[in-house]
Amino acid sequence: MAFYKTAKAPIVGVYQSSGKFSKLASQNDDITEQDSGNIKHALNILSKDVLKAVSRVYDLSDDINDYIFPVPRAVTADTPNNNGDNFSHEELMRFSAAHRCLVFQTFRNDPLHIEHAADDPKTARGYIADAHYVTSSRDDKHVLTVVAMDTTKDPPLAEGLLNGDVSTFSMGCICEAVRCSYSKCGKRATSDKDLCEHLMWHKMSRIDGELIFENCEGVEYQELSAVGNPADPKARTQALLKYAAKHASNNDVKTAFSVLSTLISPEDQHEVAKFFAANVGKLPEAMLRLADQIL
Ligand SMILES: [Zn+2]
Repeated sequence: MAFYKTAKAPIVGVYQSSGKFSKLASQNDDITEQDSGNIKHALNILSKDVLKAVSRVYDLSDDINDYIFPVPRAVTADTPNNNGDNFSHEELMRFSAAHRCLVFQTFRNDPLHIEHAADDPKTARGYIADAHYVTSSRDDKHVLTVVAMDTTKDPPLAEGLLNGDVSTFSMGCICEAVRCSYSKCGKRATSDKDLCEHLMWHKMSRIDGELIFENCEGVEYQELSAVGNPADPKARTQALLKYAAKHASNNDVKTAFSVLSTLISPEDQHEVAKFFAANVGKLPEAMLRLADQIL
């Protein structure tokens, strides 16, 4: 049995494609000029072949101009996160025989999801185009991931990322085992029932002055998610409705409503979308919940 872990991943910058890649917004000062240069370089050599192949699996646009590129700091090495999970430098740099790459590189081509709802790859909003391990500061080694987010698949999320309303992702990984950090213990567990009492009861508290946390081993990074959407969910639905109406009125072959389109003709869909968009402010809660379901 493996452990499933999640942790906050603050976004340090968002880049946009416009012929050349230029930095748009930086939510904090964690990004250095050197990192920024590396990211721009990575974006400019981004593989269009990978984009094409990945877009089919994740049901994403295959046009690079539809994308924005948030750069979350996905993992900080040797620093237990708020959940008391630690990813050591050695683990991040370990060669994973199962994946034929280093552990931090297992982020590559993983999907971007919402709230860790990762069961269906076709619901992905993007994918992780690249992962860098930044070691310029000895005490602050970290993994930066370059996320390619399809703005046409989730316009409100794209807007939230660009205006800074969405400033964190959450990484999701599995690990084969966890090891207790307490120097007098060091027990390795491969399931919840094997956990020592320190990890069971004292995670992120101190024993003999030592902080107790879990060292994750046998890690595989699986996805990133936008979580705890700080924007009003109602505003999100309204933005989606406006987007649906716009697309329906453009006679776009792309289906704006997912469920509705299986029930009624494109013309009727257009009429419904127009009504929703014109009345979003007046719609009762139940109608907004219905709109959530059919979009
Ligand atoms: Zn222990």
